[in-house]
Amino acid sequence: MSFPSEIAAVLQNAVVVSIPTTTDFRGISYREALLFEGPAGWSEFSPFLEYDAHESARWLMAAIEGAYRPWPEFKRSRIGINATLPRIPAEDVAAFLQNFAGCSTVKLKVNDFESDADRIEAVLDVLPDAKIRLDVNGGWSLDDARKHIFNYHHRFGNVFDYIEQPTLAADDLQILKSEIPFRIAADESIRKELNQDFSSLHEYADVAIIKWAPIGGFAAAQKLINEIGLPVVISSALETGIGISHGLALAASVSNLDGACGLGTVALLAGDVVSPAVLPIDGEISVARLVPDDGLLARFTADADRTTWWENRVIEIWSDEFAAVIEESGWLS
Ligand SMILES: [Mg+2]
Repeated sequence: MSFPSEIAAVLQNAVVVSIPTTTDFRGISYREALLFEGPAGWSEFSPFLEYDAHESARWLMAAIEGAYRPWPEFKRSRIGINATLPRIPAEDVAAFLQNFAGCSTVKLKVNDFESDADRIEAVLDVLPDAKIRLDVNGGWSLDDARKHIFNYHHRFGNVFDYIEQPTLAADDLQILKSEIPFRIAADESIRKELNQDFSSLHEYADVAIIKWAPIGGFAAAQKLINEIGLPVVISSALETGIGISHGLALAASVSNLDGACGLGTVALLAGDVVSPAVLPIDGEISVARLVPDDGLLARFTADADRTTWWENRVIEIWSDEFAAVIEESGWLS
């Protein structure tokens, strides 16, 4: 890649990859990522394409920390993984779950009870003892949430581990928390307003969803986890196996992990850049620094236009202010 020398010195061996997705997840058909190598190992910068420079700057901080700093101390070396089920037809669920060997917690993105109950039924046909996590991405009003949650509970009973972000507004979440028989997990409530005061999050959520790159890396995530004080689930941002390895390291380092983590999402991609692909075995993934496979990098290398687009994206983020924050971090010295 042809970065200005100051950036090129940091992002050594950078390569942009583009991997097709296998299902409609987040409405994207390719996942692009800029991979690079630092003294501590390979890292990944992969904010979603629509994210602006301000939001993407945290992802770049995470990526640089991941390449230049040793991982935090581990409290465990294998991470329990939840299956992540995209919006696929109910008849395809059994086959898709084979990507998640041994996983007994299943997370589904849901729209509403009417269109998603069959998919939950299909999961329970394969895994009668599954713990089900529903993710609404803040898509419901308070009234919608009451109606759908009543219906889910009425039909399926106590199979639910938690419901993730049923509504966006904290006030509504707080009301729901007092009314519904499910635990509530906060994702967008955390990630979309990272500079807020988190001391009252426990009043409207029971579990915090934390993601390595969107939060800004290990140091930022640990600070946030301490501030929030709730049990956490580490989840992915649909990274390649390189980014996922950092999410696994974060999960390995936190003391108050709440069950399985959402880090099996390489299954939603047509391939990985590391071999073997970072997928669960017996419901778990081991934590290790990973190096991309040359053949897989060659197979998934993005075309010149997309590579230039990613170069420009990094250059746009790399303001004087960003350079000063990196300097202050001491990671490069
Ligand atoms: Mg979520």
